[in-house]
Amino acid sequence: MAIKLVTTVAELRKESARLLAEKGGSSQGLVPTMGALHSGHASLARTAVAENDVVVATIFVNPLQFGDAVDLDRYPRTLEADMALLDAEGVDLVFAPDVDEVYPGGQPLVRVTSGPLGEKWEGASRPGHFDGALTVVAKLLHYGLPGGPAADGTTAAYRAYFGQKDAQQLALVKRMVADLNFPVEIVPVPIVRSEDGLALSSRNRFLSDQEREAALVLSRALRLIESRANAHQPLDLDSAVALVDSQPLVELDYFDVVDPTTLEPLAENCKETPFRGEGLAIIAAKVGPVRLIDNIPLDS
Ligand code: AMP
Repeated sequence: MAIKLVTTVAELRKESARLLAEKGGSSQGLVPTMGALHSGHASLARTAVAENDVVVATIFVNPLQFGDAVDLDRYPRTLEADMALLDAEGVDLVFAPDVDEVYPGGQPLVRVTSGPLGEKWEGASRPGHFDGALTVVAKLLHYGLPGGPAADGTTAAYRAYFGQKDAQQLALVKRMVADLNFPVEIVPVPIVRSEDGLALSSRNRFLSDQEREAALVLSRALRLIESRANAHQPLDLDSAVALVDSQPLVELDYFDVVDPTTLEPLAENCKETPFRGEGLAIIAAKVGPVRLIDNIPLDS
């Protein structure tokens, strides 16, 4: 394996500087993850490797963003397989710190506040989730700064890769970076799905065969909305909601069409008027023990 594992911020900085110098590089990419990696994460890594000279992936299950201790405990940890997947994509460095390295004084007293954008949709059913997620993303974005200058002495470019799967997280990270002037470019990466349409997620492994089959209704309902948008028809969200509700194993939390940046509902476009413009259809549901989210961008 060419990939190297580091567990402290000091080692990460040192290795990043060494790699930039050794490769004569001028850019560094960061891929933050919680591990239990699948092809969705591989796509982030592949994109980062294609666009940067040095690529760092982070693996950290962040206690701050879990409301439920059981959910935190049972989050899958598969470091060896994760390293192999990242190595195959050409990632240079894995930063997998333990909790004390990231929160040496225990839980941080000062945190990033996600504000109103973090209180709706996922935030409504997971209070505090996005404050916890943004706080760790802020720290990871700092840790992942290029450890030294580009080979020509200028400041190395710095990019971080986030999946569109977590659309609200992506919108919030973009706002944090813009509002607080973080020196990093946020690069969105499209959702990777299995052949039958299910968006890949580390949590899919907790679905029984029957639940997995039922979960397909989420992507089907999103595709229905997408096809209406592409045909400039009214989106008729109600009938798509009825499709999801017809699946007894699926307990719908929300399903709406929103502005991709503000995540405010585009109510007008959903009812009688033919759809034109940009939007994001978002859905969340509980299938058996697992909460699933999915979305599809609309552009017509
Ligand atoms: P996680 O490990 O679940 O926190 O996810 C780490 C990153 O991978 C986040 O930016 C996710 O949005 C992204 N990601 C997770 N699943 C997918 C997927 N199916 N397609 C694309 N990106 C994904």
